[in-house]
Amino acid sequence: MMSDYAIARRRMVEQQITGRGIDDPVVIQAMLDVPRHRFVAEGMEDQAYSDFPLPIGHRQTISQPFIVAFMTQSLLLEGDEKVLEIGTGSGYQAAVLARIVRHVYSVERIHDLARQARRALDFCKAYNVHLKVDDGTCGWKDQAPFDAIITTAGAPEVPLTLKEQLAPGGRLVIPVGGQGAQVLMRYTRIAGDRYREEQLLDCRFVPLIGKHGWKEESSL
Ligand code: SAM
Repeated sequence: MMSDYAIARRRMVEQQITGRGIDDPVVIQAMLDVPRHRFVAEGMEDQAYSDFPLPIGHRQTISQPFIVAFMTQSLLLEGDEKVLEIGTGSGYQAAVLARIVRHVYSVERIHDLARQARRALDFCKAYNVHLKVDDGTCGWKDQAPFDAIITTAGAPEVPLTLKEQLAPGGRLVIPVGGQGAQVLMRYTRIAGDRYREEQLLDCRFVPLIGKHGWKEESSL
């Protein structure tokens, strides 16, 4: 018998994911598999499958399910990739990616969030997610290059450090713009310093704070 959460998850996928045009079967399966209620703040489990972002503490959020699915699909993953995520937050996006690819490297700047994310990821046996507490605007140099990079916080401009950590053919999906609204962009490294640039969607993320992002005080 399906649990209430599994039923809510199936409904979420039908209404918010496939119902809005996400059609990559591996993305759909990952959204069906990952127990999102394990990644939300305690006491908010009953809202875990709703159509909006939720607060996770420290003025940060777990993104809306559709945005997670849309960004994952936009990375054009096939299964063998090494992916970098900037902004671990709750760990949910990393758990979705971990179902699809070989290795996920994820950087979070807030210790407490990284600790909670690790717990939820371990519950899901997502041992192929490697976490680090650091300024993700600098990427993860020791592990570069990456086949795909996803940034789940909004940058004033695309950090060159991230573009440079893409393998040839690699894709970077990142919200770029002001703090009130951004455009979700995809940069594909063609070769050397040649990139293809595409605008995917209007969006609104919390700020990417760091050396190559917003200064801390500007987001207060
Ligand atoms: N991917 C997350 C999830 O699945 O829950 C949602 C992330 S939340 C919208 C954005 C996250 O980016 C926050 O946890 C924030 O602390 C983090 N962040 C902001 N600037 C960062 C930086 N320079 N390096 C690493 N993490 C950063």
